[in-house]
Amino acid sequence: MQLTTPISELSQVGVATAKKLARLNITTAGDLLWHLPRRYDDFSERVRIEDLELDQKVNLVGEIQMIGNKRTHRSRMHITEALIADDTDVLRVIWFNQPFITKALKIGDQVSLAGKITEDFAGLVMISPSYERLNAGQTIHTQGLVPVYDLTAELSAKQVRSLVKQVLPLAHIISSALPNSIQNKYQLITLAEALKQIHFPTSQIELESARNRIAFEELFILQLRSQLARLQAKSHDALIVAFAEQETKELVATLPFTLTEDQRRSAWEIIQGLGQTKPMLRLLEGDVGTGKTVVALLAMLNVARAGYQSALMAPTELLATQHYETLTRLASTTNLRIALLTRTQWRLNIASEKLSKAKLIKIIASGGADIILGTHALIQEQVTFNNLDFVVIDEQHRFGVEQRRALMAKSSSATMPHLLSMTATPIPRSLALALYDDLDISIIKTKPKGRPAIITKIVEEPDRNKAYDYISTQIKAGRQAFIICPLIDPSDILGARSVTEEYERLSQSVFRDFSVGLLHGKLKPRDKDSLMSKFAAGEINILVATSVIEVGIDVPNAVIMMIENADRFGLAQLHQYRGRVGRGEHQSYCFLMTDSSDDKAHQRLNALLEHDNGFDLAKADLQFRGPGEVYGSVQSGFPELKIASLFDFELMKKAKEAAQTILTESSDLSLYPDLKNKLGETTDAHLE
Ligand code: ADP
Ligand code: MG
Repeated sequence: MQLTTPISELSQVGVATAKKLARLNITTAGDLLWHLPRRYDDFSERVRIEDLELDQKVNLVGEIQMIGNKRTHRSRMHITEALIADDTDVLRVIWFNQPFITKALKIGDQVSLAGKITEDFAGLVMISPSYERLNAGQTIHTQGLVPVYDLTAELSAKQVRSLVKQVLPLAHIISSALPNSIQNKYQLITLAEALKQIHFPTSQIELESARNRIAFEELFILQLRSQLARLQAKSHDALIVAFAEQETKELVATLPFTLTEDQRRSAWEIIQGLGQTKPMLRLLEGDVGTGKTVVALLAMLNVARAGYQSALMAPTELLATQHYETLTRLASTTNLRIALLTRTQWRLNIASEKLSKAKLIKIIASGGADIILGTHALIQEQVTFNNLDFVVIDEQHRFGVEQRRALMAKSSSATMPHLLSMTATPIPRSLALALYDDLDISIIKTKPKGRPAIITKIVEEPDRNKAYDYISTQIKAGRQAFIICPLIDPSDILGARSVTEEYERLSQSVFRDFSVGLLHGKLKPRDKDSLMSKFAAGEINILVATSVIEVGIDVPNAVIMMIENADRFGLAQLHQYRGRVGRGEHQSYCFLMTDSSDDKAHQRLNALLEHDNGFDLAKADLQFRGPGEVYGSVQSGFPELKIASLFDFELMKKAKEAAQTILTESSDLSLYPDLKNKLGETTDAHLE
């Protein structure tokens, strides 16, 4: 077996299982080895049957004395009942709908069971425990710290554990990118040991050292990337943009609103950055609706006055079009030439007639536009700039490293453009600094005044119809609503609402008098865009959507955001959804639907009632969930770390130091070919 051995060649993997594994992005033995446990069930406590207590979560070992299947009359459910005995007593065990267990476990078998002790009419009983026969070798399912993996709906935990067990010997041939000198200096165990121990730890201490080793390597790579990027950027010059004080003041004075203090400060910080000889790398952070776009406009005005071009790339057509409309309006008193280039739209604010794509591309190439707004279309080959000196990435987490780099590469080869990345992800400054060596950050904390605060309510099942009635009332008054569900398709196992089901139900009954739209990630980008445009134009009253809705769309007429299974989402994400409403003059509402009886879930949702600031919420969220969950997801734009926590500042510091050591020794990594290989193409010039 090799790391690259296809998963289908392992024993116990048929076509069906291989397909399910593929859904977890596991196609080779190596992938499986790197499929790390999400958590561990602690069955370290082995208890004698006579000592069992109600609600205990335990491992027990004994002999099967009786086992058999029966079926209930009413619900036609299979029930497997068994008696297990150790030296002290006998316990009843029951499994539901797993009749095949009687094939695996026979009278006289020595078994190990793990599960919770509950009680029914006849006394203590263990319900649906994990089980394994003891004569089959080492236990992996029922004793000690038992790994729990992310599963797809149909793979069993048992299956995954057995498969991982099969590939574990490969840990020895996996090569680590971490130089030996670093491994020794920081007293880390080898990667091979770490991988074995992280899957099947024999103790908490072993687990800790395994996690520590893998986390260290992750952070080390992260730090190395960011330091290399910094070195690279510093080796370039940028075109200097002088502060166009007069014109900036004029534009600010003609805006239809007064800039907030944070907007002013951020704009000033950016303008100063543009005035340096080295390229600026800046992150502009601000909650949804805090007004980041106009700040970018002020910077782009300065760039234009210096005689250079700016490009702003947004993740969707609709967003790019919105930017075009907003910015041309806000800049109507200037003579800025603003262009829009997407897959289907080619516009220039000063053009009197309709432009063809070819024409617009020509205009951009010859310097006939100062500010070029667009989507991914901007990074297509045919698009060239006259003198691009400033790149703005909106919703930066929606873009890959390659896409950002492709746009930056469109400046002249002698210099590097200044970069502004805009994001609504509330990353505390300390964290951003630990992560991105030296990166500059501007933060907009306060929202413009005068917008009515969004009324947020937790709605439980009994009040569901009231919520629907309220939505109907609002729609009859001309407003619009979003309804978000966690899933696309129905799933029994995950037990959450799906957009397809909700869409069917709502469009056919509850809201059959209204126009209801269905939006999810499986739609083609073109269909998504047209659906969003219809919603923005008011042709759709209610949009039932999955998380694809998250991107900064501005529909001031939408006033209700209803989120199904709200307890399944992170607070930061819920806050993003909520930010989709409350953008116009009307009072807006956010309904957090939940059927959870878990106190913690309610406390967490309550935080949304208390805070309306993304930073405060992120902090609150951290008290409930690990930083990995708060910041670790792809959505938030954070680097994906399997094990490391971005908040482990101690380890981050060591990793940073280690990366510095290596780069001091060999700034181009030529002494470390493995490492260089690992970083490979993915070394970004900025931010990652
Ligand atoms: P985001 O930070 O989410 O990208 P936008 O830049 O889209 O926010 O701004 C949201 C809305 O707020 C826009 O309609 C914008 O014109 C408006 N806006 C921006 N700054 C202010 C301000 N200082 N006062 C009032 N409205 C503002
Ligand atoms: Mg925005």
